[in-house]
Amino acid sequence: MKVLRTLPELRQWRAQQAAQGHSVGFVPTMGALHSGHLQLVAASRQACDATVVSIFVNPTQFAPHEDFGKYPRTYEADALALQTAGADALFYPDMEMMYPPGGEIEIRVPRTGALYEGITRPHFFHGVALVVTKLFNLVQPTKAFFGQKDYQQTVVIRRMVADLFMPLEVVVCPTVREADGLAMSSRNRYLSPEQRASAAGLYQTLLAVANAAQPGASGETLTQAGLAKLAQYPDLKLDYLAVAHPLTLEPIGSFDPETGAVALLAVFLGATRLIDNLVLPFRLAE
Ligand code: AMP
Repeated sequence: MKVLRTLPELRQWRAQQAAQGHSVGFVPTMGALHSGHLQLVAASRQACDATVVSIFVNPTQFAPHEDFGKYPRTYEADALALQTAGADALFYPDMEMMYPPGGEIEIRVPRTGALYEGITRPHFFHGVALVVTKLFNLVQPTKAFFGQKDYQQTVVIRRMVADLFMPLEVVVCPTVREADGLAMSSRNRYLSPEQRASAAGLYQTLLAVANAAQPGASGETLTQAGLAKLAQYPDLKLDYLAVAHPLTLEPIGSFDPETGAVALLAVFLGATRLIDNLVLPFRLAE
């Protein structure tokens, strides 16, 4: 596995792939890798001739009070995991490379980026859109792989790729979960053992919404079913629970299985904020 740190190194690697006629799969991450990330690597390897993974903790998607400083950085273990998973290259830029002095261009996502995550984290999707645009321009992938775990992010990125005519395909892979249903996340390592036990309540809440998703049921009924389940986990403090249209993310009036919906959940568990979602109608293979 080649480790690429500078712009010339990346450009050279990319040119070599082009010269060999290789399709390039790209998996952007912030590191602290787990099986959810590695599944994206596996999907990329299956679909593309060469796979490059980036590790960059992006400052512009964190607010000053958020966890940028203490976000887990586990480079050695990550590089080893990627090597074992068969990634061809690891792009590991530093801050200067990604945000050279004098940069000023911003990308705004005023509608889908302002809902849900965007209410608690108003800067978040602007930061994501900016860094993903930079990464796409750098890597020039054939396909880019994202996790359903961050559902709203996949909607924002698809919107951005379409609006800006970015010449690549976005592939979304299923959420990888722990045995009790907790979605794998780099932030799970912030949890104490007691909090880790309570965290299973996110998935149970989403399952309660899924169970209430009968044709014609109101969005309000579905939300209330989830909130009733969430109330059984006093450690979990609700940020939002919404049942939304799968593409527009607008809250649904009533559930139509043909259109489908997505149940989106964010909770605080102590100082840690966790998110999860389920696409409805829910099938257990998801
Ligand atoms: P992050 O490093 O948290 O920015 O995540 C990098 C990519 O991995 C994003 O596309 C995430 O949606 C994806 N990802 C994170 N956790 C999971 C998971 N449990 N299952 C599937 N994909 C995930």
